Formats: sequence, structure tokens, C-alpha cells
Amino acid sequence: MIVVMKAGCPEDDIRAVQNRIENHGLQGHLSEGAERTVIGVVGQIFSGLQAEIERLPGVAEVVRISKPFKLSTREFKETDTTVVVDGVEVGGGQPVIIAGPCAVENEELLDSTAREVKRHGAKLLRGGAFKPRTSPYSFRGLGVQGLKLLAEAGKKYGLPVVTEVMSPEDVGMVASYADVLQIGARNSQNFNLLDEVGKVDKPVLLKRGFSSSYEEWLLAAEYVLSGGNGRVILCERGIRTFEPYTRFTVDLAAVPVIKKLSHLPIIVDPSHSTGSWELVTPISLAAIAAGAHGVIVDVHPNPAVAKCDGAQALSFDKFNALSVQIKAVSEAISRPAE
Ligand code: PEP
Ligand code: MN
Repeated sequence: MIVVMKAGCPEDDIRAVQNRIENHGLQGHLSEGAERTVIGVVGQIFSGLQAEIERLPGVAEVVRISKPFKLSTREFKETDTTVVVDGVEVGGGQPVIIAGPCAVENEELLDSTAREVKRHGAKLLRGGAFKPRTSPYSFRGLGVQGLKLLAEAGKKYGLPVVTEVMSPEDVGMVASYADVLQIGARNSQNFNLLDEVGKVDKPVLLKRGFSSSYEEWLLAAEYVLSGGNGRVILCERGIRTFEPYTRFTVDLAAVPVIKKLSHLPIIVDPSHSTGSWELVTPISLAAIAAGAHGVIVDVHPNPAVAKCDGAQALSFDKFNALSVQIKAVSEAISRPAE
């Protein structure tokens, strides 16, 4: 349910509506737009509440939200949400490139990758320290040591860092190093983890589970938003289909569909979805053309010896070429890149 307040109504009226909502054991989430202030009411809404709220001073109207994802739907917030990460806007006019190795392997590799991706237009640095691997015998990341290296490289090159957190107990610790907390595809419906990242003051990059519908994905986002953390960036990373040729099947229709359903920014991961470096450039460009707010791309100085996902990593030269083409595509569709 959303409560639309009258334009220019006093703060006290807004406060009174929120108090009434909270007194019923429900949550009131405020969204102050240029045109209107609305309060999203979530929880177990009972019959009679709508009429009760409609009678309060300053209330213009009370509208039921038809979608189950109450705070991420555009019915709650009409305008696009921009998630700002240390001054970098995700969801604004310019597509953002996030790049880096799949996993933090060592200082030298990370340093050279950060330097190169920064030089060629990346705005954020990615790198996994806690890696969810299908096999327990694969390289599972450097853990805290990896987080330290990532934070150092990010600081040195002026790149906010994105890294995955895998368990609820680690959220506070990972958040002390990371600028953006990534929730991986395999954990996208780990509801305890989603609750935990909903409590911290760090943006969340929420991958789509590879068997999640749009509704399940937006309901996962809803856990974070209803926990009090409004800074969620959605990431399409491919879904599992009958086609084995690519690692997953990239669902680029997700970009316009999610933009229609939700105000949250959406980016695409062409690396984990395709699993093949040759497909990373065409899928990145298609994602930007489809309206994605950015891409997150694996880059490695020597993909042939990468400890994780080398087949999908771009070399520095190829990443450079990609960033030039992304700029051209975004200009062609009138979303000029810097
Ligand atoms: C990753 O980005 O490192 C990763 C493991 O991605 P996903 O969760 O989408 O597989
Ligand atoms: Mn990977």
C-alpha cells in the first residue's frame, strides 16, 4: 500500500502517518520525489487500514500496490533510483563499467589489473575474495587477505571495490573493506544473508539466481530494501536453460522488463553468463544498447593462467577495445559516456 501525501503538506503530517503505521506493527518507507512524497507501507496489511489512513491530515490518497515486491516496484517510486558509490553513479545517464579479475589472486596481478581498467574507463573494481565454487577442490579465494589487497588497490587507483559476501556472519567484516557487497547467483535466495545486507550502509549488487524468475529476483531485492538498505543494484548474469554451448543463457530481455517493473538500476554480467571471452564484447554492447546501466566484466593480465574463470576473462587490450565500443554505443543511443 502507498500513502501519497498532499504536495507541500507539513512534516508533522508525514510523521503522524508514519507513527500510525508503526503503531500497527507495520513499516513505513518514505520516498520523497520532486513532485510528491509517498510512504510505502509494508507488512501484514489488514482490512480497514486504508480507510483509517485516508482520514489523516495531509493524505492525498492511499493506493494498493498490486505487485508482491512493494518497495522495488515502480508503483512505489516512479523515478529511476541512482545508487551512488563513493561519487560514482549507477543508474544515472551514463553506463558504468565495473571490471577486474574474477578472483583476487595476488597483489601484483590485482595492482596491474586495477591500473589498466582504471586507465580504460572502469569506474569500479571487482574481485572475489570469498568464491562460491561448484567444486570444493577449485580455488576458493584468499579470504580476508584478498579483501585487504582489494581495498588497497581500490584506494591506490581511486576505484571503489565490489566483492562477494557469502555468509551472514561475514557481512560486517566484508563491509569494512568493500564499497559494494555482491550477493552471488548461488546465494540470491539466501534469505538470512539478504536480511543481513539489508542492515548495512553499503550498496548491494544483487545477482539474479540462475533459476530465478523476475518476480523471485525482485522479491530478493525486497528483502534488502525492507531491511532498510535502499541501495540495490540488480545484475542479470544468465539463467540455466537447455542450451549447453554457453555457460548460461543471457536474458537480455531482463533489462527492459526490470526497468519497466522496478526503479532500481540494472547491469549485466557478460562474463559469468556466457563463460567465454569471445562473447563478452558483443553481449556487453547489446546490454548497453538494451538500456543496461552498466556491465561487470572479468579482466585478467594473462587469462590462460587465471586461477578462476580464465576462459571468460578479457585481456587488457581486449578490455580497452571494449570500453571504446561501449562509449560509441552509448553515444549512439544518446546516453553519452564520459
Ligand atoms: C562472480 O561474479 O564472481 C560470480 C561468482 O558470479 P555469479 O554469482 O553470477 O556466478
Ligand atoms: Mn567467476
